[in-house]
Amino acid sequence: MADNIFAKIIRKEIPAKIVYEDERALAFRDVDPKAPIHILIVPKKDIARVSEAKAEDEPLLGHLLTVAAEIARKEGIDVTGYRVVINKGAHAGETVPHLHVHLLGGRPMNWPPG
Ligand code: AMP
Repeated sequence: MADNIFAKIIRKEIPAKIVYEDERALAFRDVDPKAPIHILIVPKKDIARVSEAKAEDEPLLGHLLTVAAEIARKEGIDVTGYRVVINKGAHAGETVPHLHVHLLGGRPMNWPPG
């Protein structure tokens, strides 16, 4: 059983500001938000990072994106726009070894990212 912080949030062992939950995914507010809206969407399945997802996980990966889009509509950032980010590895700044999709919005963002 994984003991990283998101696995503990999924098991409800530690608190989080949960905004969405179904049988396959959980979404909660980032504890250190980088934008006015910053929500993390995670699979309940133990997948460490995107590079470790298998072909059988493709429907689950797609589900995380449609959940992100649904949350964006509920949070009121669908019209102004938002960014969906997955960090993998040191250069991208991955810090938690459980796959998570960042949903960021509520302010203009630069491109390319820093
Ligand atoms: P990453 O750098 O892509 O691995 O993203 C990890 C994210 O998890 C960061 O934005 C952190 O602020 C966030 N984070 C870390 N611990 C928690 C927590 N307990 N609850 C919510 N978000 C967290």
